[in-house]
Amino acid sequence: MDIGNRQPHLSYRLSMPLFNSILSRILPLLPKWAARPFASPYVAGTTSSSALKVVQRLNAAGFSATLDILGEHVESSAEARRVRDAYLELYELIYDQGLDCNISLKLTHLGLGLSGSPAKENLLDLAGKARERDNFLRIDMENSDYTDETIALYRECRKLHESTGMVLQARLRRTLADIEELCEPGFNCRICKGIYPEPEELSFTLANEIRENFSLAVRAILSKGGYAAIATHDIELIDSLERWFMENEISPHRFEFQVLHGVPMAGRLERLLERGYRVRVYVPFGEDWFDYSIRRLRENPRILGYVIKNIFSRRRKAAAQQEVPARRQPDDTVPA
Ligand code: FAD
Repeated sequence: MDIGNRQPHLSYRLSMPLFNSILSRILPLLPKWAARPFASPYVAGTTSSSALKVVQRLNAAGFSATLDILGEHVESSAEARRVRDAYLELYELIYDQGLDCNISLKLTHLGLGLSGSPAKENLLDLAGKARERDNFLRIDMENSDYTDETIALYRECRKLHESTGMVLQARLRRTLADIEELCEPGFNCRICKGIYPEPEELSFTLANEIRENFSLAVRAILSKGGYAAIATHDIELIDSLERWFMENEISPHRFEFQVLHGVPMAGRLERLLERGYRVRVYVPFGEDWFDYSIRRLRENPRILGYVIKNIFSRRRKAAAQQEVPARRQPDDTVPA
C-alpha cells in the first residue's frame, strides 16, 4: 500500500484547520491549568532555574541557547527596572554555570514606550553586564511602530559593547534597505519572517514573497561581511539557504540556525549539527507564559495540531519505554 500518495480525506482537510482555529480562540478563556499542557512544550518553566536546566540539556546535546524572559510592554519604570535586574542576574548565572547561552530581550519589556524612556538606561546597563561577563546581547524586533527606535538603541548599545546583535524581519519591505545601512563587519543580525501582522504598504503578505525576502536578506548580510542568525522552522527555506552556503563556500562560522524551543523539527536540527553548523534554541521562560503561548497559538492555529500530536506521542513513548526500557525511541522535537 502506498501510504505516501494517500491524500487526507476532504472533510479532514477542511475540518482540522477549523478545529484548530476554534480551539485557539477558546483556550484564552480556559483556566491556566487547562492551558498548561498546550504551553509546556514551548516554555521552559517560570523560573530561571527551570530555564537553565533546559539550557544545560540543550548544551549537552550540542545546541547553543538564548534565554528570553517572557513579557513585553511593562507599565512602569519600576517594573522595567525589575526586568533589567532579572536579566542582570541571568548573565551572572549563565557565567557561573559556564553555559553556551546568551540573551535575547524585547525593548518594550525594558520600558520602551514609557515616558522618559527608561529602556535606554536599562539596555545600556545590560550591555555593560554582557561585556563584563563576555557574553552577547540580542535585541528582538517588535512591531513596526518600534523599528526605528529599536535600530537607534541597537546602535547606542553597540558603541558600548560590540557583541550586540539585532533582528530584522523578512516580512517588512524596508529590511533590505536596513541591511544596506547597518551591515558592517561584525554586524550580527537574526533574520526571521516577523511575527506581527503589519499593514500592506509596509509589508509583504504572500508567503513566497516573505520567503524570497528572507533569502535575499541572509545573502545580503553574508555578502557584506556580517553574521546571519537564520531563525526559521521552514525546512524548504533552510534547505535552499544551505545549498547557497555550499555553492558559495560560506564558512559555517559566519552564520547559525535558530529555532524556538519545543517546535518539532523531525530530526533536522541534529542533522544540521552533524554537518558542523551551529544551531541555537530560543528558550523563553517566566511568569508570562500564558500570554506568550496564546500569542503563539493565535499566530498559527496549526500549532495546536502539532501540540496535540506531541502530547500523545510523548505518552506513547513513555508507555513504550516502560514496557521495553532498553529500546531507544526516535525523537522529533527540539530536545527539552
Ligand atoms: P512558518 O512558515 O510560519 O513555519 C514553518 C513551519 O514550522 C510550519 O509548518 C509551521 O506550522 C511550523 N511552525 C512554525 N512555528 C511553529 C511553532 N511555534 N510551533 C509548531 N510549529 C511551528 N519574530 C519577530 O517578529 N521578532 C523577533 O525578534 C523574532 N525572534 C525569533 C527568534 C527565533 C529563534 C525564531 C525561530 C523566531 C522568531 N520570531 C521573531 C518569529 C518568526 O518571525 C516567525 O513568526 C516564526 O518563526 C514562524 O515562522 P517560520 O519561519 O518558522 O515559518
